[in-house]
Amino acid sequence: MKIIMLGAPGAGKGTQAKKIAEKYSIPHISTGDIFRANIKNGTELGKKAKTYMDQGLLVPDELVVDLVVDRVGQDDAKNGYVLDGFPRTIPQAKALDEALAKLGDKVDYAINVEVPDENIINRMSGRRACVSCGATYHLVHIPPKTEGICDTCGAELILRDDDKPETVKKRLDVYHDQTQPLIDYYTNSGILKEVDGTQDMADVFAAITGILGE
Ligand code: ADP
Ligand code: AMP
Repeated sequence: MKIIMLGAPGAGKGTQAKKIAEKYSIPHISTGDIFRANIKNGTELGKKAKTYMDQGLLVPDELVVDLVVDRVGQDDAKNGYVLDGFPRTIPQAKALDEALAKLGDKVDYAINVEVPDENIINRMSGRRACVSCGATYHLVHIPPKTEGICDTCGAELILRDDDKPETVKKRLDVYHDQTQPLIDYYTNSGILKEVDGTQDMADVFAAITGILGE
């Protein structure tokens, strides 16, 4: 099962992708997580990506596409994967389709987690991410058991630099301009599925499993 998660920044793609990955035993591939790991490790890719991410801009397609095509070709992705944060532009979507077509393969589902802009700023300002394992929480909606500490690994929880309100506004503009056109793209290819992302986390997940099957 090959799945793409679509939706605005903060719509809940990562939250749902982790649950999908666990339930269907497929890898969760988040380009944002890959860039953040590269930044943490001080790699050349991380240094380049950071300059864009800090401004709320997309990292250029040429820095993203090969990385993802390579990742989905790895052994653990043979039976499928859930892509979170990729594709984010039409050229990225086309590059993925072309790379898969060469292998006689295709994406099965593009799930759009729909959340209006009004809710996004609240989602992002309350998001807290683990510095070590990348788990995400929300101060109000999905709080950790102990304030400021990751339930999973015990490390510190932080507000991401790009979740500050001024950057979120820019990221939303970029989303509407460059990523939202993917909804039409996947509608036209017949694989788009819509879910209402304003519901509770568990209800969003129930809607998704209703689409993917048990
Ligand atoms: P994305 O991966 O789309 O950027 P996240 O999955 O990180 O978004 O979710 C953004 C924030 O909203 C996080 O703080 C997360 O805990 C919270 N969140 C996710 N799903 C829900 C939901 N259904 N209701 C309320 N808050 C949610
Ligand atoms: P995310 O964790 O998905 O919210 O991504 C954080 C940031 O990483 C984005 O705001 C972009 O700057 C960058 N990024 C992640 N995925 C992509 C992508 N597919 N294309 C371009 N930039 C990306």
